[in-house]
Amino acid sequence: MAQESPLLWVRDLRKTYGAVRAVDGVSFSVPKATVFTILGPNGAGKTTTLEILEGIREPDSGEIEVFGTRVRRVTPAMKGRMGVLLQEGGFEPYLRVREVLALFASFFDRALPVDEVLARVALEDKARALVRNLSGGQKQRLALGVALVNDPDLVFLDEPTTGLDPQARRNMWAVIDDLKERGKTIILTTHYMEEAEALSDHVCIMDHGRVIAQGSPRELAASLGQDTIIEFDALDLSPSAREGLGACGAQVQADGNLVTLKSADLVATMERLLSWSREHQMPLRNMSVRQPNLEDVFLSLTGRRLRE
Ligand code: ATP
Repeated sequence: MAQESPLLWVRDLRKTYGAVRAVDGVSFSVPKATVFTILGPNGAGKTTTLEILEGIREPDSGEIEVFGTRVRRVTPAMKGRMGVLLQEGGFEPYLRVREVLALFASFFDRALPVDEVLARVALEDKARALVRNLSGGQKQRLALGVALVNDPDLVFLDEPTTGLDPQARRNMWAVIDDLKERGKTIILTTHYMEEAEALSDHVCIMDHGRVIAQGSPRELAASLGQDTIIEFDALDLSPSAREGLGACGAQVQADGNLVTLKSADLVATMERLLSWSREHQMPLRNMSVRQPNLEDVFLSLTGRRLRE
């Protein structure tokens, strides 16, 4: 079967601000009706990449293909088929939810009916509520609704759940999943590894303006092999205790109090770790044993954690 051409494709995208290489040769392609996530720590270049693709910023160089057309800069006609979740909604607090959506819909020649948008962001029961009385999660879903009024094919979500509580975050995830089911293509940035794992078909991990790994969450985790991760908290880890961990037959990383061991032989490593714990009188606080995740991929590639 012939592979469908990607909805968006970029090659060797670059953007510098003075001496800062914010985007330093980024290439990827985004298939239609998928969630494509750019994951990376603060300052990795995620927002700059998105702003170029949204047509807000011009790249210094690189090729962009959107909706099947190769351009140097995203055109107004292309922007008409995109939706952008604004970081700060900043909506008038004394407007009602329905009024906000109707106002934004009035900017477009063709817009979705307000009721349809309300349903897509699960705010039907808040249609008459004042913006000022919405919770943080509801405000964010309203902001997403505003991004959807023109029924876009491509939706950009820059850190859509930052600052939301876990329940509100999950509600947002459900809305994003539903958008994908409707055939929309979603480009998401996040520094929450769990979010990238829960939502993404493809993940592109960025650091210092570069793509350091790409693939499905499963493929990326599998890139660490069959290893198992053992983690625990070690308060006041002495240099000799730290050194002793080296004999556990695992790759060791200590980051503050958190010790991470990556082992190809779980049983052998556990046996040695228990001996180490007794010998150094170090309790294995909050110990967990799990398969590698995207955070481990980032740690293994950079020696750093996503959120430092
Ligand atoms: P965050 O998660 O903090 O939003 P990010 O991955 O989105 O980070 P960017 O906002 O794209 O990263 O920033 C990439 C780099 O470019 C950073 O070093 C940032 O300080 C710098 N930068 C971004 N915008 C500008 C600007 N307008 N002028 C100068 N430097 C900028």
